[in-house]
Amino acid sequence: MITIPRYIVVEEGGIEVLPNILSKLNLKNPLVIAGKKTKKYVSSDFEYMYYSDIDLNNISSIEKLTKDYDSIIGVGGGKSIDIGKYVAYYSKKPFISIPTTASNDGIASPIISLKQPSIMVESPIAIIADISIIKKSPKRLLNAGLGDIVSNITAVLDWNLAHKEVGEEYSESSAIFSKTIAKELIDFILNKPNIHEYSKKLVKALIGSGITIAIAGSTRPASGSEHLFSHALDYLKIKYDLKIDSLHGEQCGLGTIISSYMHYNEENLNKDDMEHIKSSLKIINAPTTGKELGFDDDILIEALTIAHKIRNRYTILRNGISKEKAETILKETEII
Ligand SMILES: [Zn+2]
Repeated sequence: MITIPRYIVVEEGGIEVLPNILSKLNLKNPLVIAGKKTKKYVSSDFEYMYYSDIDLNNISSIEKLTKDYDSIIGVGGGKSIDIGKYVAYYSKKPFISIPTTASNDGIASPIISLKQPSIMVESPIAIIADISIIKKSPKRLLNAGLGDIVSNITAVLDWNLAHKEVGEEYSESSAIFSKTIAKELIDFILNKPNIHEYSKKLVKALIGSGITIAIAGSTRPASGSEHLFSHALDYLKIKYDLKIDSLHGEQCGLGTIISSYMHYNEENLNKDDMEHIKSSLKIINAPTTGKELGFDDDILIEALTIAHKIRNRYTILRNGISKEKAETILKETEII
């Protein structure tokens, strides 16, 4: 069954509607999951917990912890939202998402990506994005958000490829919705170098992206080979104990440059669309090279050769690509 958010607020001062939304949903006693810096954004009348104090491996303690509450509110960045969603899922309570930045589509998606493979849960029942808070969040996080949006373009191409080559179920409407969200944000960035309204457009795009996942009942519309590449980088960061603080959206941005180039070579994508992905990332100063993210060339090459094994998802990487081919692609896309 599809669940999509019942209330979506994206505006300056949006946080003020929280009491109204709670009363419309007939919720009276939420537990707030927050970060130390983000707790202040919701009323001190509500009880709260820091996400860092929650033991994610102890499900019975989560059930005990939440038994007196009728809902869970996550307020903060990716961790507060993801852990809030996790607590809501295991305690079977509705979840309200209050992002204070916009670095990935987890703010609205029915996905918990604390580890791989991610798990699919219910969508947040409400999303309250206060633009006056979000636009003041670190620019690096907002730039990373674009990486998680441009990835819709290659995700949809991969999905279509899987449909044609291995008969995977495909939804044309979800694909168009997802692709359009990305194209509109890219066009906005390309046409208006003064990106004053960027944070609002970005948040709307990320919410739209989360909703396409809910409608498709799969991450397919927003996650393809570019996400596999990002997950491969995460895996290698742990394997080699690399002290690199690259963000999901930043890695997906690089991944999208790679995957769009591969789709262009197979004539699934035209040259302009491929180039616009990279130029939009450049305009807002999101990383477009491995060096900017702090990765050595050999790590990027290894990530591209193992990406197809990260999860069972058919993409343009097919059964994997050789080290030599990976190196050539990374050089041709100027990532190394
Ligand atoms: Zn993502």
